[in-house]
Amino acid sequence: MIHEIIPVGMLQCNCSVFGDEQTREAIVVDPGDDIARVLDVVQRHGLKVKAIVITHAHIDHIGGAQKLKLATGAPVYMNQNDIELQRMMDVQAGWLGTRTPEAVEIDSDAKDASVLAIGATDFHVLHTPGHTQGSISLWIPSEGKLVAGDTLFFDSIGRTDLPGGDGRQILQSIHEKLLPLPEETVVIPGHGPNTTIGREKQLNPFL
Ligand SMILES: [Zn+2]
Repeated sequence: MIHEIIPVGMLQCNCSVFGDEQTREAIVVDPGDDIARVLDVVQRHGLKVKAIVITHAHIDHIGGAQKLKLATGAPVYMNQNDIELQRMMDVQAGWLGTRTPEAVEIDSDAKDASVLAIGATDFHVLHTPGHTQGSISLWIPSEGKLVAGDTLFFDSIGRTDLPGGDGRQILQSIHEKLLPLPEETVVIPGHGPNTTIGREKQLNPFL
């Protein structure tokens, strides 16, 4: 599986491009900004984007989604519990002092336990609310990887002081949905360096 991580935008959100070597199908997760760079990666590998997945509706993760959707024709998946937050994009732009990005039309609800696939590789949606109500993580068992959005970080967890955040709920999501995954699972957080489930289980001071 092709996998490139591109830190995009002012807050350096980790955008992931996954591509299947056989079918050349791709899934792009969290195209927050810098869509030209994302498209460069897609084109360099000769990929066709089959799905755009949003881990949660914060501007740094969703800001470039409509641009990427228009460029690729791919449908956008987001958990419906973040729709309210998605409608506040102008407010979110105000937090950062940036302009409001083009509103994205969501095509599909990324529901808990639903599965997306490219080639023979399954991407399992885990609903992990707490950072926002619609936060999801994507587990790719055959690759031993977890895309964690802003739920779990190297040595940290997502902030819960923004609208839709809930400190108790994020801990519950991490303990019930993420920590039971195999310890060697590589975690790709929404920002910063990769880690593993085992490392965070052992050393993360918030858990
Ligand atoms: Zn966030």
